[in-house]
Amino acid sequence: MKVDFSRNFIAGAWHEPSSPATLPMIDPATGKTFGQIADSTEADVDLAVKAARKAFDEGAWGRTTATERGRMLARLGELILANAAELSAIEARDTGKPKSVADADIVALARYFEFYGAAADKHHGETIPYLTGYHVGVIHEPHGVTGHILPWNYPAQMFGRTLAPSLAVGNATVLKPAEDASASALRLVELAAEAGFPEGAINVVTGRGATAGAALASHPGVDFMSFTGSPEVGQIIQKLCADHYITCTLELGGKSPQIVFADADFDAAIPVIVKAIIQNSGQTCSAGTRLLIEKSAYDAFIPRLVEAFNKVRVGSPEMDRDCGPIITEKQQKRVQSFLDKAKADGIPVLAEGTIDPGADANGFYVVPTLLGPAPRDNALARDEVFGPVLTVLPFEDEADAVQLANDTDYGLVAAVWTRDGARQMRLVKKVRAGQVFVNCYGAGAGIELPFGGSGKSGHGREKGFAALHDFSKTKTMVFNHG
Ligand code: NAP
Ligand code: MG
Repeated sequence: MKVDFSRNFIAGAWHEPSSPATLPMIDPATGKTFGQIADSTEADVDLAVKAARKAFDEGAWGRTTATERGRMLARLGELILANAAELSAIEARDTGKPKSVADADIVALARYFEFYGAAADKHHGETIPYLTGYHVGVIHEPHGVTGHILPWNYPAQMFGRTLAPSLAVGNATVLKPAEDASASALRLVELAAEAGFPEGAINVVTGRGATAGAALASHPGVDFMSFTGSPEVGQIIQKLCADHYITCTLELGGKSPQIVFADADFDAAIPVIVKAIIQNSGQTCSAGTRLLIEKSAYDAFIPRLVEAFNKVRVGSPEMDRDCGPIITEKQQKRVQSFLDKAKADGIPVLAEGTIDPGADANGFYVVPTLLGPAPRDNALARDEVFGPVLTVLPFEDEADAVQLANDTDYGLVAAVWTRDGARQMRLVKKVRAGQVFVNCYGAGAGIELPFGGSGKSGHGREKGFAALHDFSKTKTMVFNHG
């Protein structure tokens, strides 16, 4: 890893930050500092937004055709795959992910550039039959400059998820990665330049949310914001956007239910349910965090789930176990506080994974835990833990399952496990979620599948063609030709 992570990437070149202040890059598997990123100021963000503005209004980027943009995106996808080993190592070091998870993340990242590269010249407008003597056309235009604020859980994938569709439709972009995981974005922007993106099309400014992030969302030169992170900061972003009359996509948290009926295929369900909570150490907005089980199946299903959950192993990226450490000491303590409170509340621990004895004692590890049955008003049943913690909640019947599934402030993803086809359809329609999986689960890999939530999970859609829609605006042209 020879990349100099301490500078910003603005107007096609590495840029010394305006302040000498830096933030440490900390390896979650050891707790050790391995580098520094710039703690950028409002002045750095201003430079980046101006560079993007110039690229869009007067630069080579603003003159590109959709086909040319598609080629650049596709080329970046190829470069990502060609440099996958290096990118995966950067990502694993920065986030503590197991090696195979980081490898899969880099493949998903490449897929975003492949998908939107191929889609760039297929986002067509339409004509609308109107009055006699009139011709009406609707075209899609980019917003102009889009701002992007990312979280630390899937930094490389998010780089693709948020930037690729925005670039495909022709926006110029400014990205502020999470201070706890900025490394992959800094390497990727270098690859983007190599792929041919002209100066100012992609600008990356590192730093803290309250300073650099807030400066970006409130900058009058930004026309649209894409934010992924906590509901609390999502509200702040939306208010900052409202101050200058722009809209935003908010991809926030979740409390996604896995709804298991007595007639489900338990053999198929159990490994998927375990993976859906331990993947990325539970630090996934779409993690399946609530296990809703039909009461009549409790005694048959739970012991088998317990057996599988007890086999979960935790270790460093190199050990490549089922999950790695939590991103920071602060988040580790937060997850641990949920476990401590659950125990104090008398919620039984049903199963626990094991931290590999070879793991560094200074790493930010927590023991993956299966708890329940939990009362429906308990924090574990309602609040996002963002760690490898699965809560069991029994239900009586179908109506009760729907009520329980929708009984949180969130609405992101859900899974329904049943062999009854009519019930599958009823549940899909009644459950509040942007994606519902039937007898399967896994939001992450589906680059083609529109994704997003409602309520405290946010609004707007990313992924698939839906993202091209959100990252652009329509213009209706009305011609009176007589
Ligand atoms: P967060 O604070 O919402 O961080 C997300 C991004 O927003 C980071 O880049 C952050 O900057 C930035 N930010 C923070 N305050 C800001 C502000 N006032 N203005 C503009 N940008 C701001 O999330 P977190 O504190 O890292 O994690 C807390 C909780 O959020 C987690 O426990 C989890 O529940 C949820 N979360 C959800 C997702 C998801 O994918 N839905 C991802 C991560 C976290 P810095 O962090 O760089 O300072
Ligand atoms: Mg880190």
